[in-house]
Amino acid sequence: MKKYDVIVVGGGFAGVCAAIGAARCGATVLLVEKSGALGGAANNCLINPFMPNKTKINGVETELSQGIFAEIKSALIERNGLKGKTFDEEVLKNLLSDMLDESGVDLLLHAYLTRAKMTGGVVEEIVFATIGGEIALKADYYVDATGDAQLAFLAGFKTQLGREKDNLCQPMTLCFRVGGVKVEDFFADKNRLNDLYKRLRAEGKINNPREDILVFRTLHDGILHFNTTRVVKLDPTDPFAVTKAEKAARAQVVEMFEFLKANSDSMKDAYILSTAAEIGVRESRMIAGEYVLTKEDCLAFTVFDDSIAVSNYDIDIHNPEGSGTSHYYFPEGKYFTVPYRCLIPRGSKNLLVAGRCVSSDHDAQASYRIMPIVACIGQGAGTAIALAARDGLNVKDINIDILKETLIKNGAFLG
Ligand SMILES: Cc1cc2nc3c(=O)[nH]c(=O)nc-3n(C[C@H](O)[C@H](O)[C@H](O)COP(=O)(O)OP(=O)(O)OC[C@H]3O[C@@H](n4cnc5c(N)ncnc54)[C@H](O)[C@@H]3O)c2cc1C
Repeated sequence: MKKYDVIVVGGGFAGVCAAIGAARCGATVLLVEKSGALGGAANNCLINPFMPNKTKINGVETELSQGIFAEIKSALIERNGLKGKTFDEEVLKNLLSDMLDESGVDLLLHAYLTRAKMTGGVVEEIVFATIGGEIALKADYYVDATGDAQLAFLAGFKTQLGREKDNLCQPMTLCFRVGGVKVEDFFADKNRLNDLYKRLRAEGKINNPREDILVFRTLHDGILHFNTTRVVKLDPTDPFAVTKAEKAARAQVVEMFEFLKANSDSMKDAYILSTAAEIGVRESRMIAGEYVLTKEDCLAFTVFDDSIAVSNYDIDIHNPEGSGTSHYYFPEGKYFTVPYRCLIPRGSKNLLVAGRCVSSDHDAQASYRIMPIVACIGQGAGTAIALAARDGLNVKDINIDILKETLIKNGAFLG
């Protein structure tokens, strides 16, 4: 088995951008993913579209997620896989695989991380369940991009589940697609359908706690994307609870589909085209890192000295207890940044974490969790881990100025 400088676990936007970022900075990299393709939640959970992360700075409309994420968007456009913010996940899967190849990243699919050995802050070995039995892998450095801080947790680093007061997480949602829809007629009729949905919910005739119908166009004729099921008060890190969530969400898919079909002519010939392979988890564990990003930091528009990513996506909290979604929208020109220290599990010497599970409170996570921003966090993690690997340093001791210079040279926007 080849010895790598860096192993990245998790092939979502954070993991892919971490792997590419590290490889481009000279590290030898293996990316390991439990499913059969890349894209993470975009693929496993059918999450779409890219939520916006842009604002006007000095009067100029500025995309705040640049770097590798901008390259992904351009390449998607070249392959006819992106229109506006809506992308085609089948195009994405191949594109990300090609980008890993071009960067020289090795890939291992269908391998599920089950154990990690850590001594004195150093992760020494990680173990995967595979079709061929368990395999143990070793590298000098690791990036946990599992979304659930699975590697940090298994290694014994401290994590926080959901919100601080009661550990409740944002709801889980099983996304689904409906085909055979007269899409323009559907949107012309949408307000009436929403009102009817709300009335039937109020009368107890609809069980889904979601307050309204959340639906998006897709790139394809006659197909709609629904992000509208909602399962609350179940722990996304407890497999028995997740099983319950999958079953409850599947019942909600049928409930929603039957409601639409019965009440809109645009759905006369409609059928359920697909449901996601996995229920989507908005929030689970976050590491307890060298710095904990807070709601107060976001509201103060804090730009940290060790910024690696920028967010002005709203603090978008789907109620963890039931109905309702709260938003805090950042004023034009304002944003906060994610500091590098949030990627370092407290006490870690050779492990960084990237993605929706970096060190923060519940509210801050509700903003930076979207795909464009986790991609930038991933690039930050990959670049940092390569710098540590190059000089044999503890992840805490890398030179932050060089990290930022390298990121900017590679197209990142740091505020
Ligand atoms: C229902 C829902 C709707 C959303 N809507 C939007 C939206 O419209 N727009 C937007 O931009 N964002 C949206 N988000 C947020 C966004 O999709 C996620 O926060 C983001 O994709 C997280 O990226 P990530 O790379 O951190 O994790 P993920 O995309 O979850 O990637 C983690 C990867 O690690 C792998 N993995 C996990 N555990 C292991 C293991 N033990 N061993 C090996 N591999 C493992 C997984 O298979 C996965 O591929 C939504 C999220 C949800 C759940």
